[in-house]
Amino acid sequence: MSILIVDDSIDSQRLIKVFLKSGGYTDVHTAQSAAEAYRFLQEIGKDEAQPIDLILMDIVMPDVDGIEACRTMKTFDTAIDIPIIMVTAKTEKEELDLAFTAGAMDYITKPIEKTELLARVRSALRLKHEIDRRKARELELLEVTHQLAAANETLRQLSFRDGLTGVANRRHFDEQLTVELGRCLRDQDFLSLIMFDIDYFKYYNDYYGHLQGDDCLKKVAAAAEKALQRPGDVLARYGGEEFAIILPQTDSEGAIMMAERIKTNVSDLMIPHARSKCHRFVSISLGVGTMAPGVARTAEELIQLADQALYRAKELGRNQVIANEGI
Ligand code: GH3
Ligand code: MG
Ligand code: MG
Repeated sequence: MSILIVDDSIDSQRLIKVFLKSGGYTDVHTAQSAAEAYRFLQEIGKDEAQPIDLILMDIVMPDVDGIEACRTMKTFDTAIDIPIIMVTAKTEKEELDLAFTAGAMDYITKPIEKTELLARVRSALRLKHEIDRRKARELELLEVTHQLAAANETLRQLSFRDGLTGVANRRHFDEQLTVELGRCLRDQDFLSLIMFDIDYFKYYNDYYGHLQGDDCLKKVAAAAEKALQRPGDVLARYGGEEFAIILPQTDSEGAIMMAERIKTNVSDLMIPHARSKCHRFVSISLGVGTMAPGVARTAEELIQLADQALYRAKELGRNQVIANEGI
């Protein structure tokens, strides 16, 4: 344990040092003024500077007295937890109130008595040790709490993401659709839904293999994601090679524009599809369903609208957008 004596009298410093040594405390530093002590404390934590566990502070010193020094030290990050014992002549006792207010933890009176000094030092150091232990424990707990929060956040993210494509999964889609449906009904607003499906994807898998099929799904999802513009738009993997997009506050016209943009984005990928019967490259068919203000619908009804439109798009030759306003 390391102790700092702050005292303007060399004799006094020496005496305290001798007493401390007899108590087994050999790591003792001295400062002859408050200014010197500040410099010492501010070095703590830098390079090889030693931490201090206890300060013994003379009250009467020229320039800055011990009480003022104590108050100042308690503002240093490096000294805030170091217990300070005031060393005081009996006549200065009335100043002790001030010393305690300034942050002192204890005092001993001059002339210094060895047994008393060692007893007070020992108990102050025990306290310091306890403070250090608790601080370390708190830091550890804080660190674990941070790690836990980060892990929870990752889990939360994963719980609504599709593992292959990284877009929202079906569960998140269902939740979001319910939320948005409620909002649009309340606000008398439009809500659109796009469902799209890769054309002749079974043939793609059969011809190019399942791994390449997975890769194609990832690229198609990313191309669709690129078309989304508003933070409220949600792209989800609805099933195997089928995706859905929730478009809040979007009428049929706006949704058709979005669907066309997605169709173009996918076809611009120019992923060769030698077994497609409708295009040289991988293409998609899209169905748009829209709920107009004042026309209350359930999530199932809205999905059905989009799904019927998608079915029509397939029937009419694929690689196209069909809208269904349900009127
Ligand atoms: P259509 O144009 O009518 O949509 O024809 P299709 O062949 O795409 O339709 P179908 O629904 O018969 O086939 C879907 C295929 O999608 C079946 C399966 O091989 C493939 N598929 C579904 N999920 C995955 C997946 O996660 N990875 C891969 N690689 N293929 C998948
Ligand atoms: Mg398909
Ligand atoms: Mg399908």
